[in-house]
Amino acid sequence: MRRTVRATLTILLLLACLAVACLWWRGRETTDCVDYTHTAGRRDTMTSLYSWHGSFVLEIRREPPARWNQRYVGWAWRSFPSAHVWTAEHLKDLRRHASWAVGIGVGYAPFVDDSGSGAAVAATSWTFWVPPIYPLMLLALSPALWIYRFIRQRRRVAFGRCAHCGYDLRASADRCPECGQPVTVPAQHAT
Ligand SMILES: [Zn+2]
Repeated sequence: MRRTVRATLTILLLLACLAVACLWWRGRETTDCVDYTHTAGRRDTMTSLYSWHGSFVLEIRREPPARWNQRYVGWAWRSFPSAHVWTAEHLKDLRRHASWAVGIGVGYAPFVDDSGSGAAVAATSWTFWVPPIYPLMLLALSPALWIYRFIRQRRRVAFGRCAHCGYDLRASADRCPECGQPVTVPAQHAT
């Protein structure tokens, strides 16, 4: 049971790795974005998660109620070319305003939002920048460990060693004298 749960989790994590790698690759040409637009109250708030030009970017944008935001209330998924659109220019500008350390950036910038039809409004934007390699490594860590342990166990059993601790079991038939685990017999030697 535990093994099945672990195997399922490993496969899910590997799929997540694949998705991150695909987004990363795609980001060079195509920007993918998930937006959440909230317009109630005195300010409109847009929260966007972008995969853009080798970065994952979280942007939280705030501005006075603008008519054009009404059209996007709630969740939205957008996909557009990574160059030559308003968002790309906007992100380029925000990247310049960010402070960077070890590839991670945090930025705050006031700017004029003229992205919609209607009068431009004064907006502010918080951004958080992460290179995809970080989430990729984080997601890959557990599956890599699991696969390493799985291969090590198979090798130990094949060489007549305890799958659990690696102790030489050629003189033991029942239990490992080192860790007490039952002896696992390699498939080809089983009777
Ligand atoms: Zn052992």
